[in-house]
Amino acid sequence: MKNSVFRRWIFVTFLMSTLMVVSGCAGSGQAGGPASGGKTGQGTEEAALGNTGSETAAIASMDYLILVNKNHPIPDGWENVIDGVSITNSLGDEILVERTAYAAYLKLHDQLAREGIMVDISSAWRSEADQQALADTAAEGKTAVSSEEYVAEPGQSEHQTGLALDLYLNIDGKDVVEKKDLEKYPEIWEEIHDQLPEFGFILRFPEGSEGVTGHPYEPWHIRYVGEKAAAEITQQEITLEEYLGVDDL
Ligand SMILES: [Zn+2]
Repeated sequence: MKNSVFRRWIFVTFLMSTLMVVSGCAGSGQAGGPASGGKTGQGTEEAALGNTGSETAAIASMDYLILVNKNHPIPDGWENVIDGVSITNSLGDEILVERTAYAAYLKLHDQLAREGIMVDISSAWRSEADQQALADTAAEGKTAVSSEEYVAEPGQSEHQTGLALDLYLNIDGKDVVEKKDLEKYPEIWEEIHDQLPEFGFILRFPEGSEGVTGHPYEPWHIRYVGEKAAAEITQQEITLEEYLGVDDL
């Protein structure tokens, strides 16, 4: 009995793979290949229309240099390529971070701890709904002191990549979370910023770069870009926009 089921399974598998070969089901071809196969014949026109449309091209794999700002919304399908880890910070909040960025953060955290600087993550990955809720609160004039001074519209926040982290400090055993309090420790931030490139992070919104990034200075907002890009961006004292040759804000 079991044997015949197994044989039937073999047959179905064989049949399916034959069909896939015949219909040219290219999985490893171009990025974001044909999403809806099967419509042979009149499919060409539809595909052409789809490609020339104004919709953002769907992203097919992780891109650590992804640029998300006012003019560069998060690409379609990003939530499908991001591999996230869930952690709980010292405030008891659940935080989601992209896996590689989190591994790099842990090394940064440990290095800083060895120097007596204690950091934690107040905010990392935000979903479209989270960002919408933040924007709504800001629009209603109910912006809490703890929220971002600048609240990006949904789709335009780097936090939706899972690669951006907002840090907070623990000083003498007390959590310092509010932005207005965090701003009182410029010398600590300077020491943190010095360590960032070694672990693949950059200070994403440096002082005096508002015209390029669209954001005021945020010492707590760091972004994972990988060690090579982080070293180059930091050495040249430029922003991610300038590194990617994008100047359209
Ligand atoms: Zn942030």
